[in-house]
Order: sequence, then structure tokens, then C-alpha cells
Amino acid sequence: MEFSSDLRQLLHIPQNVAILSHRNPDGDAIGSSLAMRHYLEQYGHTVHVLFPSEYPEEFEFLPGAEDILIWDIHTEECKQVLSRKNVFIFLDFNAYSRIDRMGDLVKNLPGARILIDHHLYPEPMADYVFSEPAASSTCELIYRFISGMGDSQKINPTVGICIYTGLVTDTGSFKHATNSMVFRIAADLIDRGVPDTEIQDRIFNSQKEKNLRLLGHCLANRMEYLPEYRTALIWLSRKDYEAFEIQRGDTEGIVNYLLTIREVKLAAFIHNQPTIVKLSLRSKGDFDVQEICRTHFNGGGHKNAAGAYSHDSLKATIQKFKDILPLYKKALTGQNGK
Ligand code: 5GP
Ligand code: MN
Repeated sequence: MEFSSDLRQLLHIPQNVAILSHRNPDGDAIGSSLAMRHYLEQYGHTVHVLFPSEYPEEFEFLPGAEDILIWDIHTEECKQVLSRKNVFIFLDFNAYSRIDRMGDLVKNLPGARILIDHHLYPEPMADYVFSEPAASSTCELIYRFISGMGDSQKINPTVGICIYTGLVTDTGSFKHATNSMVFRIAADLIDRGVPDTEIQDRIFNSQKEKNLRLLGHCLANRMEYLPEYRTALIWLSRKDYEAFEIQRGDTEGIVNYLLTIREVKLAAFIHNQPTIVKLSLRSKGDFDVQEICRTHFNGGGHKNAAGAYSHDSLKATIQKFKDILPLYKKALTGQNGK
């Protein structure tokens, strides 16, 4: 990370800052946004965090979560707040399309732009870019950003709790996308008073009964295993959404169960949300799902976790996914052909 004197000057004088993150914000989006807010407020900046859509309930405990403005709910207030801003910070995403209509507005507003993110292929959307696809999480980058600014002492427990949340959620509790830095940062945060096990308990032991019943339904009735492609998938229809009263966040993590099958290298969760069909792909090892999402579904993400949306029907999307598997047979199984 390089810190220009311009950037230091900008952040050392109180500014009117908007922190934005992506639609369907996850723990890393929320954690990095709130960590950045609590850091910047120590310099006297006026900071608002804005998301296109709501965040899952399990993150309500994070300090400052209650102040987050949601475009889908507080559209007029978001527009007014954004029009007053002179610094825009983009966290955990790297293309205006990931913030939907808020992107159309922000794109045309004057102001300095800072991007901190770990997804591949960033759009040229910022004056100051901290893009590291090898990083575990945007929260890892926030920790390094604050340290790089010479402000380690500003990583207090409030900032730390938020950073820890993104570390633990984007690495699946330190199971994937880890590096030695992640463990050093986690250890340092614990030394600074971050209650690590309590945070994990709040985030992961917060399911409702219906979530477990839904998981049971997915595994018993909606799972397909394609051993010839070392692939497994789970799909959910609009009817399933109604029957299980599925809300935002309820399907989070279901795709990961498919990877627990020893032979599976590629896992897909394809579900009919109220207006679109959403794909979530996961993989083990070197198999790149980001490439599949980008090439065939206009999506993106990381090598081992990527996603996309489709405007085709659920059936057509599942079929399209199955139809492309022969293209990847060699990469998945080491064998050629259908
Ligand atoms: P998930 O499957 O959990 O929604 O997303 C997995 C990863 O893929 C996340 O890092 C997310 O940012 C990325 N991702 C999900 N959906 C999309 C999409 O529609 N477009 C792009 N570019 N990335 C996505
Ligand atoms: Mn992330």
C-alpha cells in the first residue's frame, strides 16, 4: 500500500465522507464500512455509511449499525446526504454496478474517491486505489490502511470489533482465503480487547429454527450431485421462498455444505429470488469460479467464491450451468470430454 501526501492531507482535515458498500452487504462489507467510519471520526470527519440494500440481522450488534442508511428504504435521505459529500470511499466492491442506482447518482457527483477492495478486476472509479485480490478481506485491508497511515493507536476495540467481523466472515472462521497476516491481525485485535469468541457466537449462532429446516430441505430435496464433474448444486424455487418465508440472509452459507463432500470441487447454489435468479458458486483449490461467473453469467468475485445474477428462468439458469460443465471437465476431474 502506498500513501501519497495528497491522501494524507485529505484525510487529516475534517471532510464530509460517504462510505459505500455493495448490495446484499455481508460481514466484510459491514465490518469494513463501520471500522472505517469509527477510524475517520477520530479525525473529526462527518461520516455516513450507505448501502443499496439491507444487511442481515446478525450484524445488528456492530457499533454504529443502527445509523447505516439503506438506499432501498431511505432513498430520499440517501440522495440528500450524498449530495453534501466531498469524499466517497468504496469498500468491498469495485464496479458502480454493484451499488445499483446509488452508483448512477454517485458516479456524477464531484468529490475525491478512495477504493479499498479485494475483488479482481477493479473498474477505474477512484483517485486512490487500494486493490489487493490476494487479501483475505476488505477488513484486512482496512487494518493495513489504518496502520499504513501511521494510526495503529486508533484501532480501538470499536474499530477492532468491526475489522474482526470481516476477517472471520470472509475466511469462513479462518478456514479459507487465509494468509499469515490474517492471523497476526486477529491476534493483535484480541490483544487490543476485541472479544473474539463472543463475536463469532453473535454472528454464527444466530439462526432461527426455520433456517435449519430450510437447510434440511435443501440437503434432502434440492441437492443434485454430478460426480462425473465433481460438482454439486442446490436450487430453490420461488415456491420454496414462500414456503420457508425466506428473507435476506437466510440462504447465506448453504452453498458451503456442498463443499464438505470429499470429491466435490465445484459447488453451486442457484435460487429464484423475488425478481432475479441468483447464482453463488464456490470451489476448492485452484478451480476458478470467478472465471465461470464472469464469462457465462456477467458476474464476478474471487477464485473460490463468486456470484452472478440471471434474468432467465430458474430452470433455464440451472440448465445453462449444467451445459457449461463439459467445458470445465478437464479442470474439474483431470479428464477430457463429456
Ligand atoms: P455470494 O455468492 O456470497 O453472493 O458472493 C460471493 C462473491 O462473489 C462475493 O465476493 C461477491 O462480492 C461476489 N459476487 C456475488 N454476486 C456478484 C455479481 O453479481 N457480480 C459480481 N461482479 N460479483 C458478485
Ligand atoms: Mn469481502
